[in-house]
Amino acid sequence: MSTSAAPVVVVGAGISGATCARTLHDAGVAVRLVDRGRRVGGRLGARRLGPYGDRRTDLGGSYLTVDHPDLQAQVDDWERRGLARRWTDTFLALSPDAPAESKAGPVRWASPVALRSLVEDLADPVPTDGHAVADVTRGRDGRLAVDGQPAAGVVLAMPDPQARRLLGDGLPEAAAALAPAAAPRPRGDGREGHVVHDGWEPIIAVAAWWPERTWDAVSPHGHFEGAFVNDDPVLSWVADDGRRHGDDVPLLVAHSTPDHAAEHLVDPPSAAPAMLAALADRLGVGDPVGHHVHRWSVARPSHTREAAYHLGDGLVGVCGDAWGGAPKVQTAYLSGLELGRRLVAELT
Ligand SMILES: Cc1cc2nc3c(=O)[nH]c(=O)nc-3n(C[C@H](O)[C@H](O)[C@H](O)COP(=O)(O)OP(=O)(O)OC[C@H]3O[C@@H](n4cnc5c(N)ncnc54)[C@H](O)[C@@H]3O)c2cc1C
Repeated sequence: MSTSAAPVVVVGAGISGATCARTLHDAGVAVRLVDRGRRVGGRLGARRLGPYGDRRTDLGGSYLTVDHPDLQAQVDDWERRGLARRWTDTFLALSPDAPAESKAGPVRWASPVALRSLVEDLADPVPTDGHAVADVTRGRDGRLAVDGQPAAGVVLAMPDPQARRLLGDGLPEAAAALAPAAAPRPRGDGREGHVVHDGWEPIIAVAAWWPERTWDAVSPHGHFEGAFVNDDPVLSWVADDGRRHGDDVPLLVAHSTPDHAAEHLVDPPSAAPAMLAALADRLGVGDPVGHHVHRWSVARPSHTREAAYHLGDGLVGVCGDAWGGAPKVQTAYLSGLELGRRLVAELT
């Protein structure tokens, strides 16, 4: 295979990588999307749970907020095709020793069939491989290779700690762009932060289900969609996954605080009892019929860059939610989109 016939290889099929790959594909640039997971989606992860058959529960990203026209156009298209839905603009804020308060904000977009389906939709026409990439190199002749196979360009679309592991010979600019952030974010109590992967915080998600929904009563309006949990050592956020999907399944997804996750990273199921006890305390629920635990070891960067992406060492790009703004779905989408457009300009 000559280098000119080689595809651009996008490593990482989360929303940033899938968007980048789709942008290249739609412009007629040969591209392959590679992910080590069994499915595409990355941190927009979902899983079939309990008695609910093929229904998938969102275990990672909870929703999208949109204030950029490019993502809005994409979301409008997903809504027309039944892949995205307006979930709500109002969540509760739960604080200790105070009544629950309603907080209005931007429209939160969800998916009736789990947020991962949005990434699946982006990746659908792109040739996709399921394996873990080990090594990206640039030879003295400037040729790029992914696990020894020639590539016209390479995109690393994943959290920094994962991307750094792939950097082989000849990529000083990517190595500099991905250099670890300085100090971990300090905590209010003066102890060292819980940052376990140089600047990336962990979260543990616990999904739990009951025979019926009993937690509406906690809301002053008698209707629960989700809640930010303030000043809790264990819980940070609870989503009603049935309301999120619009199918009313009585299933909650709770996200831990980074500290609680860090304490249980080695044995994630051991994080659940304290989280279920906190749910019982905050929402008045009894023991669930069943529950499932998911660990996100690198859930969220504690720092981001102003640049929307990096491109250097010839055509080696880096994109994802640590590039271009607050670490969220929109940032990852725009990072992949901008890098894809730049690569199209370079290659066509
Ligand atoms: C618990 C949680 C809650 C969140 N809540 C929200 C929210 O409510 N709203 C919001 O906007 N955002 C939220 N986010 C953030 C949002 O999910 C991310 O910003 C976004 O999904 C990141 O996409 P990405 O493409 O940058 O990275 P990822 O989704 O992490 O994709 C990286 C991909 O690279 C793959 N990969 C890594 N190494 C290799 C390798 N060696 N070879 C092949 N493939 C590899 C991984 O398998 C993964 O699929 C949340 C995240 C988490 C974890």
